Amino acid sequence: MVAETNAVDSPEGGRDFIREIIAGDLAQGRAQTVVTRFPPEPNGYLHIGHAKSICLNFGVAEEFGGRCHLRFDDTNPTKEEQEFIDAIAADVRWLGFDWGEHLFHASDYFEQLYAWAEHLIASGDAYVDDQSPDEMRASRGTLTEPGRNSPFRERGATENLDLFRRMRAGEFPNGARVLRARIDMASGNINLRDPALYRILHATHPRTGDAWCIYPTYDYAHGQSDAIEGITHSLCTLEFEDHKPLYEWLLDKLPVPSRPRQYEFARLNIAGLVLSKRVLTRLVSGGHVAGWDDPRMPTLAGLRRRGVPAAALREFIKRVGMARAQSVVDPALLDFCVREDLNRAASRRMAVLRPLRVTIDNYPEDQTEKLPAINHPDDPAQGTRGVTFSRELWVEQDDFMEEPPKKFFRLSPGREVRLRYGYFITCREVVKNAAGEVVALRCTYDPATKGGNAPDGRKVQATLHWVSAADAVPAEVRLYNPLFGRADPGADGDVFADLNPDSLEVLTGCMAEPALADMAKGIVVQFERQGYFCPDRDSKPGALVFNRTVGLRDTWAKESGRNAPAAVGKVRT
Ligand code: ATP
Ligand code: MG
Repeated sequence: MVAETNAVDSPEGGRDFIREIIAGDLAQGRAQTVVTRFPPEPNGYLHIGHAKSICLNFGVAEEFGGRCHLRFDDTNPTKEEQEFIDAIAADVRWLGFDWGEHLFHASDYFEQLYAWAEHLIASGDAYVDDQSPDEMRASRGTLTEPGRNSPFRERGATENLDLFRRMRAGEFPNGARVLRARIDMASGNINLRDPALYRILHATHPRTGDAWCIYPTYDYAHGQSDAIEGITHSLCTLEFEDHKPLYEWLLDKLPVPSRPRQYEFARLNIAGLVLSKRVLTRLVSGGHVAGWDDPRMPTLAGLRRRGVPAAALREFIKRVGMARAQSVVDPALLDFCVREDLNRAASRRMAVLRPLRVTIDNYPEDQTEKLPAINHPDDPAQGTRGVTFSRELWVEQDDFMEEPPKKFFRLSPGREVRLRYGYFITCREVVKNAAGEVVALRCTYDPATKGGNAPDGRKVQATLHWVSAADAVPAEVRLYNPLFGRADPGADGDVFADLNPDSLEVLTGCMAEPALADMAKGIVVQFERQGYFCPDRDSKPGALVFNRTVGLRDTWAKESGRNAPAAVGKVRT
């Protein structure tokens, strides 16, 4: 099942509207080169929504022979941390992009931004407002009512300059004063009702330390940073559309060295996923997940830990396309891209997740043999390995039924099946414990069926994966289901009430073939018939831990009785 994509906006091999604009600007000489930027605020880890912005900004720079800057929008020291700065840089690299020398921080420009603020004061375009935050909120007006002028709006430039310098010098407490642009309190666009440019914040900044106790607002810092860096196309999400007149106003008023242009595209929304750093932060701080890189998280760190290849994520973003219309993407599209990538690349191995012991009664007790197993059915270059066959084996509990219904073709009393790469075996006896539960099977094998075919041409209807008990290595396997139990988490108000209590299922006592014991971290393999798995960073020699990256098919919606996400493709406003 492949979700809808914005096929109209980015036809196969064609260009989306952003790339059309850039191509036009270059063709008509409005831009000599393309310079873009990805501007994360380091107040959390990047999520899959950011991947869309990263792929767009770095992607167009690459395609048009330009460059893309990584710029930390570090203007709010109360929420920003070095851990986030480092994680963001690592995630962008992992996604496959390189900013080269072009690593910047809004804080690199604090001195210049300050000087330009004085410029605005001198030209009468900014003033210091002494109103309290509550008073300012109350006088801002609403969508239908104009705002009211501040009693401090007509202050003269000299007094404003003096107050602003004293703000910088640390004479006033947090919130006592702000520097505001003097635009129009009656504007239909609330962003133009004398927006704040600087606020007082006595806080230590991860990079500038205690050098500043006033910090520029996003709206003031962003466009000017773009201009300083010579950004030609400032690509952002639609919620900034209403900020564009302010972006332009500031560029008009200031002696900036270049003239960037802002273009907006739709945010990535995925049904069932919450892509908001605010909520993700609370998931972590509230202990709802094991950290920012919990494999259930929609963060890039979480997806990476889960085993999602960066290439699959890039392919997903490409298939989603670039549009201005808001839409909600089916998460099955991401799974599809992950499976497609891993099916092509991942080696095959065998592991039994819920083991059931099988004894092959007619196989000599002291005998073992190595049977050749193919590492990848479509890629002979991946070669073969030996899997041990012996008298004691593990098979999957699910692959046995004592009283099978009609369409169940796997093991049951008297039934013959094939063991992958091994022999045909027949179930002769069911061993139960005192509680009447099946604890083991006694089987026989047919020595003539080595390699999986009977010389007399008889057929079996099922091929099972298995591991030899003698050299199996025990493992813990973590299965992940959606973190939220509905397609639109939080629609009823409380997003945390929608957490799926079954999002993590931990299986212990799983049995893996020994070839899985020394796998490098980050490598994903297919457990035959089970899905794709990768070693978790909690994995240690002798105590293996695997994450399920994705199953072989989309079974979750079916098994849980929940339909595929309902909001798919619908426009959300
Ligand atoms: P959040 O809503 O998760 O807090 P944000 O926009 O506040 O995200 P930033 O660090 O400011 O986070 O985002 C950096 C860039 O990533 C911005 O240009 C923003 O527009 C873009 N971005 C954030 N979320 C998405 C999304 N869901 N889809 C596409 N781009 C996004
Ligand atoms: Mg933001």
